[in-house]
This record gives sequence, C-alpha cells and structure tokens, in this order.
Amino acid sequence: MRRGEVDRNKLSPMMKHYVELKDKYEDTIILYRLGDFYEMFFEDAEVVAHALELTLTGKSAGLDEKVPMCGVPFHAADIYIDKLIKKGFKVAICEQLEDPKFAKGIVKRDVIEVISSGTIISTNSLNEKENNYIGCLYDFSYGFVLTYSDITTGEIYSEILENNTDDIVYKLLSLEIKEVITNSSIDKNLLAKIKSQKIPVTISDNVLENDYNNIYQDLSDNRVILSIKMLLYYLSVTQKRNLSHFQKVMIKKKESFLTMDIHTKRNLELTECLRTKERNYSLLWLLDNTKTAMGSRKLKNFIENPLLDVNKINKRYDVVAKLLEEFIISDELRSDLYEVYDLERLCGRISFGSATAKDLLQLKLSLKVLPKIKEKLEKINFYDRIETLDDLYILLEKAIYEEPPNSLKEGFLIKEGYSKELDELKELRRGGKDFISMFESQERQRTGIKGLKVGFNKVFGYYIEVSKSYLPLITEEMGYIRKQTLANCERFITPLLKEKEDLVLSAEDKIINLEYNLFIEIRDKCKNYISKLQEVSKTISEIDVLSSFALVSEKYNYVRPRLSSANEIKIISSRHPVVEKVLTTTEYVPNDIIMDEKTDILLITGPNMAGKSTYMRQLGIIAIMAQIGCFVPAKEATLPVFDKIFTRIGASDDLVSGESTFMIEMMESSRAIKNATKNSLILFDELGRGTATFDGMSLAEAILEYIAKKIKCKTLFSTHYHELTDMEKTLSNLQNKHVSAIEENGNIIFLHKVKDGSVDKSYGINVAKLAGLPDEVIKRATSILKVYESKEKQKDLVIQTTLPLDFEEKTSEIEEEIKALDILNITPIEAITILSKLKEKIK
Ligand code: ADP
Ligand code: MG
Repeated sequence: MRRGEVDRNKLSPMMKHYVELKDKYEDTIILYRLGDFYEMFFEDAEVVAHALELTLTGKSAGLDEKVPMCGVPFHAADIYIDKLIKKGFKVAICEQLEDPKFAKGIVKRDVIEVISSGTIISTNSLNEKENNYIGCLYDFSYGFVLTYSDITTGEIYSEILENNTDDIVYKLLSLEIKEVITNSSIDKNLLAKIKSQKIPVTISDNVLENDYNNIYQDLSDNRVILSIKMLLYYLSVTQKRNLSHFQKVMIKKKESFLTMDIHTKRNLELTECLRTKERNYSLLWLLDNTKTAMGSRKLKNFIENPLLDVNKINKRYDVVAKLLEEFIISDELRSDLYEVYDLERLCGRISFGSATAKDLLQLKLSLKVLPKIKEKLEKINFYDRIETLDDLYILLEKAIYEEPPNSLKEGFLIKEGYSKELDELKELRRGGKDFISMFESQERQRTGIKGLKVGFNKVFGYYIEVSKSYLPLITEEMGYIRKQTLANCERFITPLLKEKEDLVLSAEDKIINLEYNLFIEIRDKCKNYISKLQEVSKTISEIDVLSSFALVSEKYNYVRPRLSSANEIKIISSRHPVVEKVLTTTEYVPNDIIMDEKTDILLITGPNMAGKSTYMRQLGIIAIMAQIGCFVPAKEATLPVFDKIFTRIGASDDLVSGESTFMIEMMESSRAIKNATKNSLILFDELGRGTATFDGMSLAEAILEYIAKKIKCKTLFSTHYHELTDMEKTLSNLQNKHVSAIEENGNIIFLHKVKDGSVDKSYGINVAKLAGLPDEVIKRATSILKVYESKEKQKDLVIQTTLPLDFEEKTSEIEEEIKALDILNITPIEAITILSKLKEKIK
C-alpha cells in the first residue's frame, strides 16, 4: 500500500497527521512515537523492515486494509537509528509533545530532530577521536566552495576549489565528509560521482539569512558566505539544530598548508593503514599519545594539514624541545591533561540543549584542573595562554549534585545550599517523612498491634498494614478506612496519614520540577561561556598534541629538524618510524637521504624486498612529520619546506573512476608532473610497471627527463628498468642509488642499505626461491634466464637517453601571464580587461 494512493479522507486522525507530516519529509524515515514505541508506516515501514530485519505488521487506520507498520522500542531506539544512519538513511524523530494522559483529542506530535550521517550528535555513535564532517558544496559554475563543519564541536571551514570533478570527489573522500548539501545547478556528472561514493547528498538552494552571522561577518567573498548560509539553512531549519556554539569560519587557503591529495595520504599511510583501512600502523597511530579526545582529533587535523610557515613550525619545535627539557613538568602536565574531558563536544551539547547533569559535572572536573595546566604552560612559555573560568567552576561546584541520574526528571541534580526555595521544599518533605515514621510507632501503641506497619506504593500511596489475625483489635473509633484486602493482611488509611502524604508527595513533585528548572537555568548560563571554553579547548588540544610529539620523540630518539631555505636534503641515519616500531625480530637499518641543491632525482634500483618503497615512504613521512612540528626519526635532519607532495606507490585501488591500474598510474603521474613546483616532493615507485616493458620503460624515462629538465623538484624514483640508470650520464641532477643485497650459496640476504650507484642484477629468481617456489621451477627459470641474458648482449640495445631531449624552454610571455592568473579571485570585469590586454599583446 502506497501512502500517495490512499484515500486520505478515510484515515484516522492520527494517521492523517502522520501522512501530512511525512509529506514534508519525503527523503527521511520518520520514527513516529506511539507510547513505548517508535513506529514507521507505509513505504518507510517496508524499507526499514527490510533494512533492519524487523517484522512488518499492520495498523488499522480507517482503511479497508491495514497500513504497513514496523516499530522499534523507544528505549533501544539509538541502536536502530545508528544502523539506519550507517546505511545512509536520514531519520526524523517525531515525539509526543504532551502527556497522552492529559491530551484532549489526538496527542500533539512533531519532529524534534533530524539525524543524518553528517549530523549525528549521540556520543554512542560517534568516535571521540575523529571529527564528523558535513559539507556544503556550492557550485558557482567556474569553481566550487566547500564549506564543512563538525556540528558537535562547532568548527567550520571553507575553501575554494577549482573546477575538476575528480579532485573534488577526492577532496570529499580525503576529508571524510559524511554528508553533502549542494545547490541545484551542480554539475550532474559530479553529483553522480559523489553519490557513487555512497555519500548522502541533499540538494537545496535555500539560505539562512541573519542568524549566526558571527560565523561569517568578517568575510567579503560572497560565494563563501552563500555556501555557509546554505549549510546553516540545512542544519538549523531542516535539522532543527541550535548552532550558537558555531565558531568563526576558518578559511583554508592553499598557501598555508602543504598540498597532498588522497593518494599521498593513503600511500604514506598517514591516518590509516593501506591494507586494513584501520588506524593501527599508521603515522597517526604511532604519534597518538594524546591524553584528551580533543587532542586526538587535533593530531589528525595536524597530520592532514602540514604547515608551510617556517616560523609557525619552529614555534612548535620550540615547545616540543622545551617539553623534552622540562620532563618533570611535562609528565605532570600530561596527568593534568588526562583529567580534561571533551570540552568541545560538551559545548556542543550545551548549545543543543542535550547536556545532562553528568555532562556539567565533566565540565566542572575539567575546569578544576585548568589552573594547574595554566601554571605549567607559563613555565614552559607556551605560545597560548588559557583563561581558567573560575566563576563558572564555582557555580558548578556549588550547584551540581555529585551523583546525578541520567535523566533530568528524577531530581538529584542540585546540591543543598544552592537554592533556598529548594532546600525549604526538601525540609518539608523530610518533615513529612519523619512524621510518617513516627506515626508508625504511635499507631502501634494506640492499637496495641506490634506488627503494624506503614508502607508505600505508587497506587495507594501511604497505607497502614495489619495482618489478618490482629484485625479484631481495630475498632471503629480509631478511624481506619479499609483500602485493600490481601491474602493474609488488610491495608488501611487514615485522614491524618493522607494529609501528610499529600504534603510529602506534592513537595516531591515540586522538588523535581524546581531541580529541573534550576538545572536548565544553569545550563543556559554555561552557554555564555561557550566561546571561552572553545578557546581553552583549542589551547588544550594543541599542547596535548605537542606533548604527544615530545613523548614519542623521547621514546624513539627523534631529532629536531632544521628547515633550510636552500633546496637541500640531508637526513643522516633516517628510519621509517612505523616500520621501525613494528619490526620485532630484526633491527631497522638506518639510511642517509642526501640530496644537495644540485641533485634533484635519486634513481633507486635493487631487488624486490630490498627496501626501496620503504626508503621512499620514509622521506615522505619525515617531511610531513617535520612540517607538522614533530621531531623526526634520524640522527640529524636538514630539509626544505615542501609545498606539495605527490606519490605514486604500489597499486592503489581505483577510487573514483573505475579505470585500470595502469590508467590510474598515468593519471596520478600526470597530476603530479602538471602540478609540482620546484619546491615539491615527488615519490614515484616503479612507475611504468603496469604496462609492457618497452612502453613502461620509455614512459618512465620521459617522465624522469621532464622532471629533471622542467620541474627540478626533489624526486625519488625507484625502478626495475636497469637501462634507466644510464640517464645519470646525461642528467647532471640525477644520481643512481641502489639498495644492496648479497648472495650466499644461491640464497639472497637483504641488507636494506642504500648505497651509491646502481645494481644490474635483480635477484628475482632468488626472491622466488625464498618464497618457496618448487626447486624444479627455480632451476628451469635459471637456465631460461641464461639464454635471455646471452641474447640481450648480442642485440646491443640503443638506450633512449641518447635521443635528443625534446623539452626545450620555450615559454611565451603570454603563457606565463595566463598561468599566473588566479581565476578564482578575479571579477568578471577584471577578466575582460585582462583579456583585452592580452589580445593587444599578440597583435
Ligand atoms: P622493495 O620496495 O624494495 O620491494 P620494501 O620497501 O617493500 O622493498 O621492503 C620490504 C621489507 O623489508 C619491508 O616490509 C621491511 O620489513 C623490510 N625493510 C625495508 N627497509 C628496511 C630497513 N631499512 N631496515 C629493516 N628492514 C627493512
Ligand atoms: Mg616496493
């Protein structure tokens, strides 16, 4: 039965309300509260019953047939909601807004929140160590603005992106954006690609005017403002969120951070392991010794955004160095940090109005350590100061009861001494209770029944209980009123008992209400501190990350890098920090990475398993560690600040387009050599391997020549094509290196040592032997190899390096000018002026 096809006039009033509400939430599953259940109807019921394997039932709703229905118990709803969100659904919670007992006609119900993958706030479903981003992608036809935010912390970022479909999808993947809002004029091809990555997309052109303009009031770029307003509309109008904790937007400029795309992030295993897609064995895993959830999220943010500003990086080194020097203070600081709860997300919950008394207690405990942290930050000259918010601490200390229940409707929220009115009510309640316990002994005396008891239950309130055998002792003038007869006793009340009971119970009600109201009042007061708390959070998370750097640097003997403005690399005895940590049976073999100003390319040969890929990744990771402010695994390290890192390492699976490995390999190489500047770092691991030998070799050689002649950036290039090593003779900025192995009785031993020059033996057969291939096969392969080798010698191959180089320097002035244009930051008028000037020039 479809909702759109039923005769609405026949529907029961409640179902009519449901279908009308559902009309407003077409793309959202509505969980409709009915007593102790959330129910779903019509198509929602069918879809969800299937998705969650629930039983599909029916509900009479005035039609001939029952309406399809399925439901989940209200107290366990979180689990089901979580599952639906993970499957990409949006869920609207429709609550009863009044107590059904007191409702006249149908119970008033409405949607109170909409949950989607980008807007989850439940702590149970969120990973405390990761941000959860929702993004708004605004297509302004010659470019895009991407604004994204973690609503639980109130962080919001914007950046302008060029019009390149794949890059945009990679960007969304790289930022791990969980949900996207976009305008209706979005490029359809791009939309399809985003959807194919299973990112839920909502199309909406609405904007929120006026509210929350503190987020963007300092901006002048209308495109960015528009995208922020679109996101705000979705969050505050559609999702009904209060966003008063949202911070000023941070504009992410390309010039501020090292550029690396998702391939580099994945290949270097910065935040997850390539194979398992888990945090374990990634750089993040290695470096994360943070003590707070905020610190852990910040560390990930640092790793994803290495800096370019030498001063800022050096400031971070200074702190790490100071922490290493003052190791006692550092140790104490870490235990202080351990006491700090997730202030950022607490602020979010305060703003959403979902913070409980336990949350405010966590806030209080965090505030309690701030003075200690402040004192230590001053001692180590940390570049930020913190405010300790003493008045907020005093308020919470005075007001919030130490062991509150989860619910706000059971009392036990507010301490004695905070509110006179509350204390008086409690006094009254206590008086009533005292009276009742006195009443029991009085009645025992009056009636002469020793076993007389005063009890309480929810249905009858206070009662007097007398067992059957003593009933004759009860006389009329005692004024007992019979209330209930049980198997072996009778229960009575008296007017006096009821009078006191009223007092106790009404005091109880009043207490619960008053505690609730006082609590809400305090929570609202906390709202005023949100921006200050966010400042504190920022400082705490940064010092937490840097203290984690110090800890790791100490533990594994890392060294402070020297950032050189000359284009030189000199890293002595460097190690790959993760491989080094993971190796258990053997020692890691350190290697130097030395490339002076005149050397741009190291061409690395060596057998499989020798350590070529590890050596290349090692440089990538060290560069990133250096630019996030961490010390690096080496004895001594001098390196430049790289503006971009490109990698092509191993066969990465196809992310966006569905092309073959070789196609991807060429696409990635193309992206690298088109975008690299002389300050970039390129890591190409066995480029060209994906095609036939001569194709691959020729491409590899041409690409190397292009880098050597045109880009001149630091490049590590590993290869199996020994023919390429001849290039050292013609390209002065290319050097051959090899990773050594030795042969002993036909067995190969890897030394993992990187040395000058090349090797001309690939040891493929030795490695195959090591892998356990049958002896017969190994022997046969050895003799075939001998035949090939002798043929090869006779052929006398002409190596391609002897061909004249084709990349002459012929850049025209116009070309240079066009290249330098920043299209995203000029107005149409300016564009026309520039165009006419250019036209003048060619005349
Ligand atoms: P290749 O790329 O040359 O085939 P890899 O870089 O993949 O080789 O290294 C193969 C294995 O050798 C790695 O998994 C690692 O365990 C080990 N290895 C590499 N470099 C070193 C080193 N410097 N010291 C110790 N072991 C290493
Ligand atoms: Mg390799």
